[in-house]
Amino acid sequence: MKKLRLFTPGPAMVPEDVMLAMAHPIDHHRTADFRAMLKDVTEHLQYLFGTSATCLTITGSGTAAAESAIVSCLPKGHKALVCRAGKFGERWGKICDAFNIANTKYELDWGHGFKGEGVAKMLDENPDIDTVIVTHSETSTAAVSDVQAIAKLTRSRDILLVVDGITAVGAIPVKMDDWGIDVLITGSQKALMLPPGLGFVAVSDRAWTRIDSGTMPVFYGNLKAYRKSMDNFDTPYTPANVMIRGAQVALHRIKEEGLESVWKRTAMCARATREAAVAIGMKVYAKDPVDSVTAMWVPDGIDEPKLRKTMRGEHGMQIAGGQDHIKGKVIRIGHMGYLDRFDAIGVISALELTLAELGHKFESGSGVAAAQRVFAEA
Ligand SMILES: *Cc1c(COP(=O)(O)O)cnc(C)c1O
Repeated sequence: MKKLRLFTPGPAMVPEDVMLAMAHPIDHHRTADFRAMLKDVTEHLQYLFGTSATCLTITGSGTAAAESAIVSCLPKGHKALVCRAGKFGERWGKICDAFNIANTKYELDWGHGFKGEGVAKMLDENPDIDTVIVTHSETSTAAVSDVQAIAKLTRSRDILLVVDGITAVGAIPVKMDDWGIDVLITGSQKALMLPPGLGFVAVSDRAWTRIDSGTMPVFYGNLKAYRKSMDNFDTPYTPANVMIRGAQVALHRIKEEGLESVWKRTAMCARATREAAVAIGMKVYAKDPVDSVTAMWVPDGIDEPKLRKTMRGEHGMQIAGGQDHIKGKVIRIGHMGYLDRFDAIGVISALELTLAELGHKFESGSGVAAAQRVFAEA
């Protein structure tokens, strides 16, 4: 027997009670029952995002939610600073270009996170910029940006801050209202313990003022329509109601465990993985490593596709590879959502078995021991 375990940074593992909730007979969405469910989901989303702002549930993947937010917040006459140091930062730049949104690209080497000082310098040099788009946890490089510092800056300058929190929300500390984030986005298949298919956007009053000040060539992703329906806890178009039922259970799980405990659990799994990597002679890729996912260099002489194929084929452990210029050079292991210390230790064990089989020289068991030590000391 082989058990499939997902350690990819999305999709990620889904708890059994969430799966069961989604097996409930299909209901209609224009009903009081659905509205009560969406109301409950919305309130729990506010807890998750740390906000009293409007939280919208959009049917579509995280990119759909991000596109809706970016396009709605940047009517003609506005200009974005797009922070790009990986695949997702690059994607938000592409969305701006696709909609003819004026934007300046701020690029860092992959593996680095954006800091307050760097963003401040870009804003000083480009006084026409009035919107910053940043990816909190850049999943493609497993690097974290200092969103708290960036938010402090954008608040003081009256600049709108749009944050891709797709592998941050529900994984690492993100506090929308405390920090002063204007728009915060996430997706269902990362830390939210759901299958792919839903995007979530929280929109502050400051952002609504901007959105209401203009119009954009957007229909399905027009946030104004979602806000209007949300007055009655409804959606403008047919929602993925089966997923929303699952979201209700997943969000209740997060509330029950407590967000702080979720962050701590995720951080511990990340630390254990980083220490295990070093112990078995693998270097962590990111200069500013995030706790939701770890990217690590594949040792010299090891065939990366073969490594992942063996991990899945022999051990049932699905991990991710690298993208673009780091394809074939790194592997990525997720720590988000429905996984515990034994999952984290288990994937390291499988990685050790695989590396040994492929000829990497290291002390067998040293990664597992390093990971266990992290949990034992906590
Ligand atoms: C997964 C991911 C996305 C894209 O989300 P989709 O659901 O695949 O559209 C965007 N940003 C980050 C940081 C992600 O991890």
